[in-house]
Order: sequence, then C-alpha cells, then structure tokens
Amino acid sequence: MISGPRWPGYGRSAILVLLCALAGFAAACGAGATPDEAVAPPEGLAPASSVVPAGDGTEAAAPTTEPPPEAVVQLGPAEPEAVLETDPLIYVVPQDVTQGHAFLVAVDAPGAGFASIAYNGEIFTLLREGNRLFAILPVEARTPPGPIPLVIAVADNAGRQALRIETTITVTEATVATEVIQLDESNQALLDPAVVREDREIRDAVQRALTPERHWSGLFDQPAAGVITSSFGLLRSYNFQEPNEYHSGIDFAGDNGDPVLAPNAGVVAWVGRTQRRGNSVIVDHGGGVHSSYYHLSEVLVTEGMVVVTGDPLGSIGATGLATGPHLHWEIVVHGIPVNPGQWIRDQEIPDPEGALDPEFAIGDSGP
Ligand SMILES: [Zn+2]
Repeated sequence: MISGPRWPGYGRSAILVLLCALAGFAAACGAGATPDEAVAPPEGLAPASSVVPAGDGTEAAAPTTEPPPEAVVQLGPAEPEAVLETDPLIYVVPQDVTQGHAFLVAVDAPGAGFASIAYNGEIFTLLREGNRLFAILPVEARTPPGPIPLVIAVADNAGRQALRIETTITVTEATVATEVIQLDESNQALLDPAVVREDREIRDAVQRALTPERHWSGLFDQPAAGVITSSFGLLRSYNFQEPNEYHSGIDFAGDNGDPVLAPNAGVVAWVGRTQRRGNSVIVDHGGGVHSSYYHLSEVLVTEGMVVVTGDPLGSIGATGLATGPHLHWEIVVHGIPVNPGQWIRDQEIPDPEGALDPEFAIGDSGP
C-alpha cells in the first residue's frame, strides 16, 4: 500500500546566493562537472521490455547546442501482447522540468509485472513499491531547453507488453549567474584536466550504480547547519577566466570540525579521497539516488555502513580544491548531479510515495 503524501505543499524560497566576486571571500570548492562529461548507462539496469535503444546508449545530455534528439527508442509491438486487470495510470511529474532538476515517472498499475522507460538513450527499469512502479530521473544542468521524448512501456508478469506510451518532458531554462573565484597556485593546479578526470572517474563508477530499493523517504535534511554560500548550477569562473564549469552542488559555510550529518537514510557506498575533492563520502539512498560530501577534515563512516537521518558522516574541512572550510554537497541521480535544493524543499520535487491525481495521468489507455 502506498502511503499518503509525506511532504507538505510545494513552496519556493530563494536559495541564498552569494556572488563570490571578492577575492578570498568565496568558500568555493570548484567541484563542478566538466563540460565533456558523457553519461554511460548505469550499471544494473537491464532492458525490461521489448523497448530497445536505437543508439549506443552512452550519450546523455552532453553540452550541445543541438536540439534534443528525436525518439531514441525503437517502437515495441504495435499491438499489445497482454491485457492487465486494470488500466495503468501513468504520471510524469512535472512535465516541465527545469535544467538540473529531477522528475518522477510513476505507473500505478495493479497486476502489472514491471515497467521501463526509455529516456536520453538509456532504458531505466522502474522500481516497484506496492501497486506503484516509479523512477526518479535527472535532467542534466546543461540540457538545451525544449522537448525530450519519453517512451514508457508496461508489461505483465510474464514480460508481455501491455501498454506503451510516448510522451515528452519540456526542459525549461534555469536562471544561472556566474561566480568568480580567485584561486592561489596550489588550488589552480587542481584544475588540471588529468586531476579532474581522475576525480570524475572514481566517483562516476560509484554514483552510477543502481540499488533497486529505495532507502530514502520524504524530505532530506540539510547535512550541515551553516548558511548556503553557493548554489547549484552557478557558472564558475576561476580567476576571471571564461567559465567552463558549473557548480554541481550546494556549499554550506562552516568551520573546520563542524558536523556533517546524513540527511536521509542510506548505505555508505564509498569513502575515499581525490585531489580535487579531498576527503569524501558518498551515500547510496537507493533507486539511483546518491548524495556526496566533499572537502571533509574527518570521515566518521566506513563503506557498507547503514546510516539514518542525523547520523554523523564526518566533519567540515577544506581538503581538495577549496578556498576555505565548507561542505560541498551533491545529490546525484543515475550519475547526473541535480539541484539539491529540490530535495530539501527549496524547490519542488515530486514524492514517489505521494498520492497522484488520476486527472493528471497521461495514459490510461489500457487495452
Ligand atoms: Zn561546492
């Protein structure tokens, strides 16, 4: 049984954005993703229906001025192969998705075996909770505004396709400012592409893994008590050069040794250190959602440890590329950093446990 909505009504409040134009002021960490990042299919995802990718499936929202691709999947059988006992209700929430935000695909389908969605050249198997199948999916921050096709397929328990729906989300532009950060020589050395690549490869392997069970529930807490000094998506200009990175998380102000707490339940997936991000912890919240904590002075967890909301993960520090002590916090969905503001309710995010109004279902055309 799916419980009622745990999250209160959606609201919007401005994230405190401080433009760090003054040298020495920014608690900046420079933990942006690099523009040449490509996204491979997450491990553990298997095609679950007759929907198959047409391309090589390795490219997702890479930075490009090209329009979004046309349908990226071949069509399944024209005629349904099976009949479900109840017509599935399919939801995409929201259908207008801001750059760098996540969205929910839910299929309420008693009697369905499973469902999958083709999106951005990848196929995602929906997770099951009661009579609901769902996935949280990311829109990469540099995705060009415009429509992106989705193909959603629902199958019976024997794997026979019962319904296939083609729809779109519309990517809308996020408002981003440019943040200028002054770096000294030792920090500047960490902009070396080899250093960036080392950092990215280590973390990508962890954050693309899929645990097919949701550990998190409801809102995330803030992992640190300090004010937000840099928000998600800001373009980063180092020493007034042309910005070529964006800020892939949220920065919290803090002093060396201040606590960093688990914002929701999960399992510690990785503890380590990279030159770029310093001492690091990555927590797997299940269902393709990870959260990450960087520049720590001290780490208090080990890989495989189960954590619940409020458990200490480590302490704020300035290890890696950092101009001062702070916490850089990321939420990563299927390998793509998304705006953590959604998860702490600065901006709207749909709740997979929430009641959905059948009036807004996009497909109920069961056979
Ligand atoms: Zn940061």
